[in-house]
Amino acid sequence: MPKALVIGAGIGGIASALRLRKKGYNVTVVESNDYAGGKLHAIDLNGYRFDLGPSLFTMPHFIDELFELFNKTPTDYFNYHRKQTICNYFWEDGHTFSANANLDTFVTEASYSFNEPSENIKKYLDLNKKKYDLTASLFLEKSLHKASTYLSKQTITSILHIASLDIDNNLNKTNESHFKNSKLIQLFNRYATYNGSSPYKTPGIMSMIPHLEMHYGTFFPKGGMHQISQSLYQLALDEGIVFNFNENIEKIHVKNKKATGATSSTSEYAADVVVTNMDVYPTYKKLLQDHPEPKKTLAQERSSSALIFYWGIDREFPNLDLHNILFSDSYTEEFAHIFDKKTLYQDPTVYINITSKESSTDAPMGHENWFVMINAPGNYGQDWEALKHKARTDIIAKVNRVIKTDIEKHITAEHILDPAGIENATSSYRGALYGAASNNKFAAFLRHPNFSRQIKNLYFCGGSVHPGGGIPLCLLSAKIVEDLVPNIKKHA
Ligand SMILES: Cc1cc2nc3c(=O)[nH]c(=O)nc-3n(C[C@H](O)[C@H](O)[C@H](O)COP(=O)(O)OP(=O)(O)OC[C@H]3O[C@@H](n4cnc5c(N)ncnc54)[C@H](O)[C@@H]3O)c2cc1C
Repeated sequence: MPKALVIGAGIGGIASALRLRKKGYNVTVVESNDYAGGKLHAIDLNGYRFDLGPSLFTMPHFIDELFELFNKTPTDYFNYHRKQTICNYFWEDGHTFSANANLDTFVTEASYSFNEPSENIKKYLDLNKKKYDLTASLFLEKSLHKASTYLSKQTITSILHIASLDIDNNLNKTNESHFKNSKLIQLFNRYATYNGSSPYKTPGIMSMIPHLEMHYGTFFPKGGMHQISQSLYQLALDEGIVFNFNENIEKIHVKNKKATGATSSTSEYAADVVVTNMDVYPTYKKLLQDHPEPKKTLAQERSSSALIFYWGIDREFPNLDLHNILFSDSYTEEFAHIFDKKTLYQDPTVYINITSKESSTDAPMGHENWFVMINAPGNYGQDWEALKHKARTDIIAKVNRVIKTDIEKHITAEHILDPAGIENATSSYRGALYGAASNNKFAAFLRHPNFSRQIKNLYFCGGSVHPGGGIPLCLLSAKIVEDLVPNIKKHA
């Protein structure tokens, strides 16, 4: 049976391993950490459970289909429920808005809350859907780097509608062209952060992101986000995929322009197919040192990173839900600080995720587990100790002002993760959450393809390559790898 070697057990790596297993390959996954999941990991701290990385779960059918691929019932491994409230939003002046998952209710309530005609909101949401429908199959579901992708009817239709895609406007300008209310504009600008970009730079086509959330819904996995990686890891074990932990791949072997295996810190692996889930930047810099690197791709600006405080809180806050956003008073300044000045803004937008709202065992009775995150620049060697200290003070002051509390006295447990920590734990260059940023209109085309142009049998998956970061896109990258990897017969 031909062998496939997967470097890294992030969600993209596990999904690729499963898909190659289904194709008939004998699959080994080598992972430097002692656990599977990469950024999708969790910790227990003094009776509180915290998901360390992702907190927002969308497009669950991409997970289900991996179980179905092996004729398994997904619910035997993995369960989730749909959320009725997408997010609770808070502003400094006391304005609040709870985004309802039902589109009609959202339009009615947003129209009232932000004093915008409901027709405008509806028209905007319809346009977002159109953008998604026109481009998803081109930008997300196929390799952007194969000629066959451009010969499809769908691609030609997308090109004919290019003017309506807002590629030449930035997201903020697109949103301003639809709405007058600065709070509603800020609410829709926020979606730029879903791929680690700035609303003042990312193209207006990104307004399709709220469509994904509002049309397909947001979900909560039973047992928390960690169950996404854990259930797929269990499926992979059940299907005979071998995982070798605590082993760092140091070099990919190439012979006659073909990948033939790899060397790890402890072993040698021979393989017919090598798939790397390691961030593309260190893959070239460390594992492919003797080979030419795609300079333009590697020079792309990186997405934002994050600074996260995991707080055990000794009381409950009934006005908070699973997802809560406390907006900055100056979004322009906040993004200028993150992307241009590479530092933190003194009035950051604070995201609070509380899984104990959905899963009572995630915190002791009467307590809550707060995942408190602000967007941060990548790791450029800043003094993170000083920045963390200042950010903690700024965040506490903001929470106190907006939620009207004295939060510091309720913090009973604390863990902190900064961009350098994210880089260290997963080898993500600069601690970027989503690989390259989408801060220009060519960004999608400049992402690394899911295959190597120079080295046969070498493939790339995960958040740093096409189609992008975030759980659903990492899962799609595995699907594209599956399409690209030859069927077993070819190796025979
Ligand atoms: C704080 C935070 C919040 C986020 N929020 C969300 C969210 O709400 N929703 C969402 O969809 N996404 C979110 N994301 C993004 C999401 O986590 C990522 O897009 C996704 O998990 C990346 O998966 P990946 O397959 O690229 O692999 P990664 O998770 O990056 O894992 C790569 C793996 O490869 C291993 N590895 C690297 N080099 C080697 C080597 N040489 N040898 C062996 N192993 C190696 C690493 O140890 C790691 O385990 C968030 C990320 C973070 C950090």
